[in-house]
Amino acid sequence: MRIVLGGLGHGHLHVVAHARKLLDAGAEVVLIDDGVFRYSSLAAGILGGRYAVEDGMLDSRALAACCGVRHVPANIGGIDPSARRVRLEDGSELSYDIISLNLGSTVVAPFAVADGASVFHAKPLLQLTGLRDALRAMIGARQTPRLIVVGGGHSGCELAANAAALGRRYGAAMDITLIAPEDRVMADAPAPVSEGMAAILHGFGITVRTSLRCESVESETVRLADGASLPFDHVLLATGLKPSPVAHLPGLDFDAAGGLCVRATLQSVADDKVFAIGDCAHLAYDPRPNVGVFGVRAGPVLAHNLLAAIRGETMRIYEPQKHWFAALNLGDGTGFGLWRGHHWHGRLPLFLKERIDKRFMQRYRRLYSRRPVRKTPELVSPQ
Ligand SMILES: Cc1cc2nc3c(=O)[nH]c(=O)nc-3n(C[C@H](O)[C@H](O)[C@H](O)COP(=O)(O)OP(=O)(O)OC[C@H]3O[C@@H](n4cnc5c(N)ncnc54)[C@H](O)[C@@H]3O)c2cc1C
Repeated sequence: MRIVLGGLGHGHLHVVAHARKLLDAGAEVVLIDDGVFRYSSLAAGILGGRYAVEDGMLDSRALAACCGVRHVPANIGGIDPSARRVRLEDGSELSYDIISLNLGSTVVAPFAVADGASVFHAKPLLQLTGLRDALRAMIGARQTPRLIVVGGGHSGCELAANAAALGRRYGAAMDITLIAPEDRVMADAPAPVSEGMAAILHGFGITVRTSLRCESVESETVRLADGASLPFDHVLLATGLKPSPVAHLPGLDFDAAGGLCVRATLQSVADDKVFAIGDCAHLAYDPRPNVGVFGVRAGPVLAHNLLAAIRGETMRIYEPQKHWFAALNLGDGTGFGLWRGHHWHGRLPLFLKERIDKRFMQRYRRLYSRRPVRKTPELVSPQ
């Protein structure tokens, strides 16, 4: 019996860490991923320079090895559920008896982007490191980077604030504009939350332009719906998370966004041998937004249900929580906390966020390494 874990998302971390029970039940557990787990909660702070890149990374190979899981360092190219086969991007194939997908999401530009334009996406997270390096290179060359952030949701606001923080860290000027098609930033939150965030962004010197749609990204300018063109050095797309297209298994059911429809046991509504959690899944019975906490909380239910599937036992039901704490790192040592439609700004939300994040990363890192999560900001030359 072979269980394939596709992608090392938040919930699969738990399954890998608890793989012993699956192994004891006679299963072979195979993890296919690119070799690194990147933690989104720390991503903005990495862009802003508060954390080192490694602080947000876990070594999948080392984690798998110490948990008895076979690691295949590769990207999945496609999955054929009728043949129960996984195709890797190098063309090789692997069969499975059960597959679980925790492949996450990506940001896909909802408009044309010219070849060669310096455009970064909020996800995959590795692109944020690329943006940070590009900004630092300009700062090192004593230039003022012109950055346009497209998207006024949580990620757009948090990343814009941290790009500004990067400039402050080096005492350099930054010209940052955030463009949002909605009439306010964080438009899914109550108006006082949006107003609070807009005031913070203004305070950081960020130009916030709402009710403005981006039509296309040309090689050096962003073309706007009002006919104007904005010149840029770099563009950051934070236009919303879309489920990984790899989770689009032929013949199975999806929602409009492309998330694999699962029932409360986390199995595909159309195929018992396929499980999915996190951003690549759509909880058809109780939909939730793309937020990491749902992948985290689904992990223990998934681990139980994979074991139950092997043993023919009763599965557990995953009931996603109705409320969840969110906190944005604003890059200046403060956070913006959100709870049940209320917000608060200060050091406490960041303190709580960092405590949660540190515990999460330590839980898995300590399985293969003694290296603690660093506390000190990364103070390196921008050269
Ligand atoms: C800038 C930013 C900040 C965010 N901050 C927060 C936050 O503070 N709190 C929060 O709850 N949410 C946050 N989010 C949302 C969060 O990123 C997602 O909801 C969360 O990462 C989803 O987790 P997941 O477990 O579904 O997948 P992920 O954690 O994204 O993991 C998916 C894994 O699958 C792998 N993978 C992808 N494709 C393939 C393939 N073809 N083959 C093999 N492996 C593959 C990836 O490499 C990755 O390791 C943030 C998002 C962004 C963009």
